[in-house]
Amino acid sequence: MSIRNKYIVVDAGHGGSYPGTTSGGRQEKDITLDVHTKVRNKLKGEGAFVYSTRFGDDDFGGSDDAEDINNRVDYVNANFSNYDALISLHLNTYRGIVGPFTQSSYGTAGSQALANDIAVEMGHIPTHDGNFAILRDTDEDCPKVLLEMARITQGQVENSSWQDEMSDEIVNALKNYFI
Ligand SMILES: [Zn+2]
Repeated sequence: MSIRNKYIVVDAGHGGSYPGTTSGGRQEKDITLDVHTKVRNKLKGEGAFVYSTRFGDDDFGGSDDAEDINNRVDYVNANFSNYDALISLHLNTYRGIVGPFTQSSYGTAGSQALANDIAVEMGHIPTHDGNFAILRDTDEDCPKVLLEMARITQGQVENSSWQDEMSDEIVNALKNYFI
């Protein structure tokens, strides 16, 4: 196996009317989109195919944050199929946990292994169980991870060099998973 010709869903968390967590003028939705773009380009450079849930500052038309996320799940299920992995990019709050999350109790095949590969790339940090619609309610039975890349209060998240490093870690983890 290799990452070449694999189909990867890269979900830039939040967007549009739903910025996610914020700190001053910094908004989660902007950082997740920037890292998404770097991950997308690097994956394509490795010969993978990338499904993106958004390319701009867009939401999914929900009337509140929860409905918007459910609409995002519907969008994934309606538009993407037979993909090999899904990664959802996020930043956490100023006291939130950083690292890869998998869906607790009934995570799909390979999710924990992919989370482990990401955790290794991020410096052997722990992985966590969570309960997220983007992992739970998307149809494909494949490795799925929601990644809290950092905390919104960490100033470096706006730096291109940090975003490059983060995206390298994500792509390297995917390459190791599909090695
Ligand atoms: Zn988020």
